[in-house]
Amino acid sequence: MLDIILTAGALFDSKSKNLLEATSSFSILFGKNISLITLLSELHIDSNYKMLPYAEWKNIQGENYFFTVRFIKDKIAIILYRDPLMEELYTTLKNESLYDALTEGLRKNHGEMRIHEILRLYARHPKNIFSILIYDIDHFKKINDTYGHLAGDYVLKELSKRVKNMLRTTDVFIRFGGEEFLIVLPMTTMDGSKLTADKILNIASEEPFVFEKQIIYLTVSIGITSPLQSDCLVTLLQRADDALYKAKDSGRNRIESL
Ligand code: GH3
Ligand code: MG
Ligand code: MG
Repeated sequence: MLDIILTAGALFDSKSKNLLEATSSFSILFGKNISLITLLSELHIDSNYKMLPYAEWKNIQGENYFFTVRFIKDKIAIILYRDPLMEELYTTLKNESLYDALTEGLRKNHGEMRIHEILRLYARHPKNIFSILIYDIDHFKKINDTYGHLAGDYVLKELSKRVKNMLRTTDVFIRFGGEEFLIVLPMTTMDGSKLTADKILNIASEEPFVFEKQIIYLTVSIGITSPLQSDCLVTLLQRADDALYKAKDSGRNRIESL
């Protein structure tokens, strides 16, 4: 079992809010003459709180600390500590809220926020060009119906692995819907994104997926677009979606750009 690492502690008078005693590390972190009110506002905590079992606090180095505030008769104790187990739990929860567990793609809402930021950078300076690529597995419903839902899950996971291995570390991989994925390609023109789209088309179809001895062939359809100066998030995504549906309508297993 990992233990809590006590970082600092201090006792305050609950009436005057004056510091009564503190560990030397507490003085180093917060200064000797700090009052409870100052400390609580520094920690962004409302001093009306009766007890805070766990709250997060980051130091200048960006390290996570947890602290608890306890009211003991006429004294208030503040304890700042690191808890490896809690840190692990926090990291896990943060990752779970950001990424889809099956495909490890960024979840749609977080993905949209990222695209929004990237679009704002582009609006500020057109040199920050980027492209958007949406791919959707063709007739995926049939794959589920023929080979089972678990086989469908396996295909989603393995195709995502293949695609992510090919992408640049700066590309943003988002699970946009059930079997629909959106990739943001920073500093990439429409022509550049066509090369990536070609690779995805091949990655999906050249090597079948094998699940419990069942051999599953796959194709995807891809829509690509680049932002216009007048674009907002909605118009940009709509155009990428229109391009995808053009690819579906023209027979699937192909790339369309708009
Ligand atoms: P199209 O070529 O037009 O894209 O046809 P499609 O069958 O791929 O599209 P449709 O939207 O009709 O069906 C998508 C299917 O994807 C339906 C849904 O059950 C399945 N699906 C969505 N998410 C998951 C998942 O996480 N796992 C599995 N196994 N299937 C999923
Ligand atoms: Mg589909
Ligand atoms: Mg779909």
